[in-house]
Amino acid sequence: MALSKTAIVQGLQGIVGGANVITDEKELQQSSIDRLRLYEDVHGVFTRPIPAAVVMARSTQHVAEVLKYANKSRINVVARTGRTATEGGLETAVANSIVLDGSGMNGILKIDTYNMQATAQCGVCLQTLEDEVRKHGLTTGHSPQSKPIAQMGGLVATRSIGQFSTLYGGIEDMVVGLEAVFADGTITRIKNVPRRAVGPDIRHVVIGNEGALCYITEVTVKLFPYLPQNNVRRLHAEKHAHGLRGAAQGDGRGLPPLRCPPVRSAGRRLPLLEVRGEG
Ligand SMILES: Cc1cc2nc3c(=O)[nH]c(=O)nc-3n(C[C@H](O)[C@H](O)[C@H](O)COP(=O)(O)OP(=O)(O)OC[C@H]3O[C@@H](n4cnc5c(N)ncnc54)[C@H](O)[C@@H]3O)c2cc1C
Repeated sequence: MALSKTAIVQGLQGIVGGANVITDEKELQQSSIDRLRLYEDVHGVFTRPIPAAVVMARSTQHVAEVLKYANKSRINVVARTGRTATEGGLETAVANSIVLDGSGMNGILKIDTYNMQATAQCGVCLQTLEDEVRKHGLTTGHSPQSKPIAQMGGLVATRSIGQFSTLYGGIEDMVVGLEAVFADGTITRIKNVPRRAVGPDIRHVVIGNEGALCYITEVTVKLFPYLPQNNVRRLHAEKHAHGLRGAAQGDGRGLPPLRCPPVRSAGRRLPLLEVRGEG
């Protein structure tokens, strides 16, 4: 028999402590949707099933224990970190689900300038990590437009890309290793090794899983030298098609990535080609 909302909340409080279980009605309503249904939030009309609680996980052990409890009690769980999802990934499909929030796991665990790797917990904002590695003259090379708010767990879970992906690759090319927790509470670690020659590359079971297979708790990504010459430059082309062709040719020659913005915006002529940088 399905547990009542009260029983679910009590069970969670026993695992992570009362302070880490949010039951505020407004917060629960907002946790039933993501930015796909921003309109509902603006007007305070929520049409999705409301979760029983939001759990603020503080450690991998918390994540493991909550998932074990939910698995045993047959309760749906929605994973989340930065809450920038725009495609319904954070919607609760079933009433009295648990929203498991990893944004409190926000420690940068290691910046390894020798092996050119950084290890961060799932709730570290990409901008924070980028700012830290820049102090060493390095960059993650990852630059989605949600960089100031998206967090490492969600970025890996959504197989995200950024404005520099033609140069550095998407997040799937950047992840060296990670830690994740499966639905039964099993904690798994994919080691941080430079290359894998034996068997399938199991990183790709985790990357892009959108919280459907496992909860990502820790991520190690590659680092690159920060090259200021990748900063914004502009080229002009008369036709958008010419701009696109130029961008493709530039990428093929290993030039910094080019972006083709719209030709006109509010009557103003914009540059057709733009080389975006980190500056
Ligand atoms: C203004 C704006 C600009 C954006 N620009 C880009 C862009 O340039 N490139 C791009 O790829 N995307 C972009 N996005 C989409 C979004 O930012 C990315 O998908 C981002 O990777 C989500 O990260 P998050 O931490 O916010 O995850 P959330 O929004 O919290 O979650 C996203 C999905 O991942 C799952 N998830 C979250 N955390 C975990 C975890 N720890 N373990 C397992 N599953 C988890 C969730 O269940 C959900 O399905 C943009 C969004 C906005 C609002």
